[in-house]
Amino acid sequence: MNNIKGYICSCCGKYHDKLPMSYGNQAPYHWYQISLEEKETRCEINSDICVIDDRYFFIRGCIEIPVAGMLEPFIWDVWVSLNESNIKKTIEVWDIKGREEKVKPMFGWLSTSIPCYPETLNLKTMVHMRRVGVRPFIELEPTEHPLSVEQRKGITMDRIKQIAEQFCSESRSF
Ligand SMILES: [Zn+2]
Repeated sequence: MNNIKGYICSCCGKYHDKLPMSYGNQAPYHWYQISLEEKETRCEINSDICVIDDRYFFIRGCIEIPVAGMLEPFIWDVWVSLNESNIKKTIEVWDIKGREEKVKPMFGWLSTSIPCYPETLNLKTMVHMRRVGVRPFIELEPTEHPLSVEQRKGITMDRIKQIAEQFCSESRSF
């Protein structure tokens, strides 16, 4: 997680010494809806891929948002669904050098409910594979949804502070 200098939080009034430049969670929304006992039999998950009931497939990627005046983007670390043939292709090339050339952009439904926006579940995305070791780039369908607008137009550090303040009252993962 990247961090930028600290700030006084308008949520709790305290000084936080780090302004996070990314947030994410460990699993897609659907995984959290399944009870602990059922997870054992129905779900397979690692840090990048999740399979539920052998028929729902998810991959983890980055929604990158340009930040005014910064070289590094702000990142929502999210999950998106892929269909069976695309997840197979993805797994086949996972460790192969040049994999980003071997897999065309793939359609996925956003499968993370991100706070700070109107509902983000099931927004349409395209998944762009990147070189080995780098999570795929997630491109939102160009719509008027605020998250999509922010990805196209970028945000300011003030918006990043506002997001941090919202996360202060919620939990860091979501
Ligand atoms: Zn705070």
